[in-house]
Amino acid sequence: MRIVIVGAGIGGLATALSLDAAGLGPASGHEVTVFERSAEIRGLGVGLNLLPHAMRELTDLGLDDRVADLGVAPSTLAYYNRYGQPIWSEARGLAAGYHWPQQSVHRGRLQLMLRDAVAERLGDVIRLGHRLVGVESGETSDTAVFDTEDGEVRVDADVIVGADGIHSALRALRYPAEGAPPWSGLTIWRGTAVVPTFLDGRTMIMAGDGDQKFVAYPLSEPDAGGLQTINFIAERRGDGVPDADWNRAVDPAPIAELFREWTYDWLDVPATIAGTAELLEYPMVDRDALPQWTFGRTTLLGDAAHAMYPNGSNGGSQAILDARTLAYQLATASTVDAALAAYEQARRPVTAKLLEMTRQTGPERVMLLARERAPQGFADIHDVIPPAELEEIAAAYKRAAGFDPAVLNERATLNVVR
Ligand SMILES: Cc1cc2nc3c(=O)[nH]c(=O)nc-3n(C[C@H](O)[C@H](O)[C@H](O)COP(=O)(O)OP(=O)(O)OC[C@H]3O[C@@H](n4cnc5c(N)ncnc54)[C@H](O)[C@@H]3O)c2cc1C
Repeated sequence: MRIVIVGAGIGGLATALSLDAAGLGPASGHEVTVFERSAEIRGLGVGLNLLPHAMRELTDLGLDDRVADLGVAPSTLAYYNRYGQPIWSEARGLAAGYHWPQQSVHRGRLQLMLRDAVAERLGDVIRLGHRLVGVESGETSDTAVFDTEDGEVRVDADVIVGADGIHSALRALRYPAEGAPPWSGLTIWRGTAVVPTFLDGRTMIMAGDGDQKFVAYPLSEPDAGGLQTINFIAERRGDGVPDADWNRAVDPAPIAELFREWTYDWLDVPATIAGTAELLEYPMVDRDALPQWTFGRTTLLGDAAHAMYPNGSNGGSQAILDARTLAYQLATASTVDAALAAYEQARRPVTAKLLEMTRQTGPERVMLLARERAPQGFADIHDVIPPAELEEIAAAYKRAAGFDPAVLNERATLNVVR
């Protein structure tokens, strides 16, 4: 089989590794090639969370130790209001009963690790400087058309996978009238900072509500001096920014000022923002759910198929689930067309449901309710939101995202058994 993957991001690289593990790699006589627009894979971005359902897949790919070396496995996720009063907290990863941990990692380091694993296992299959600009459809194969420094390159393939991110060219070819990603009205600022260890040194925190919020989680173990590298996301309604560009850097000082009163005895939010080496500004955007991903021999995967708000930390994890499901289906279904149909059927409805939940802020809805019911704060959250309501919000999101602990632990493997 000849498989073209468009985009060497998290989803595209995970797809190449999954195909190889499923017996569809070069070692088994198949052609898998990853075409990336950038001239170089520079490992850009800041923090990203891999939830236990994605860690299960990375473990099955034999990459768990490498992922563990990249970051920190959070023990707890804790929500606070903007005054630093606790709303909800829950164990994460192994501590929550999963067979697999959650891992907080730097997106760029994850991408470089996946790139290296692709090179080790599949060989020289990544073609840089290739921007997808067109697809021509045939009966049983399609042709991908790339723009390169040396002119147009045409590649015939049995399957073309559009893993080319939120601004996907393949998606735009299929849905030419779609336009720019819709904006939620929120702006996010992302950065890393070195701060004194807070709480147990392994807790992901979210403080605030639907209008203004701060998220932080460790990306490294504390050093001998009690300092730790953390990832943070500051978020605020309004302050419209232009189009979505992952790499736009801005001055941290005015953003720190927006959070000047958010100083808790366990974390100084304005000092954290002001202390970052680089602050990246991004509009909170996503994509509408699509009625169809697969057209002929082309399909979509990851953000190209279902870019979603970061509420719930699921973007990278869902791309990895897509990759594993697609590879499993291509290796086991009776025909390529049946495989693409089964992949879409397995992944499109669940990601559409998840998209809808992230638009209602996903598990972070507890923060909105706390603000709505107690705008000036509270002495005890249970006076404001009953424990059963808090528990159901967290559980409903996990069910929808595919990481309810019991279901995930028992779910059938996506390994191809030969
Ligand atoms: C530079 C960058 C920084 C990011 N930083 C973060 C972050 O800090 N935290 C976070 O949670 N998420 C971040 N993301 C998004 C995150 O990687 C995705 O939400 C998620 O991992 C799903 O991955 P994906 O492979 O679908 O998309 P992406 O990881 O976005 O990968 C898409 C890839 O396709 C390539 N591409 C795009 N168009 C074409 C084309 N026409 N032809 C060929 N290749 C093309 C892109 O260059 C990119 O390498 C970032 C994405 C990018 C591109």
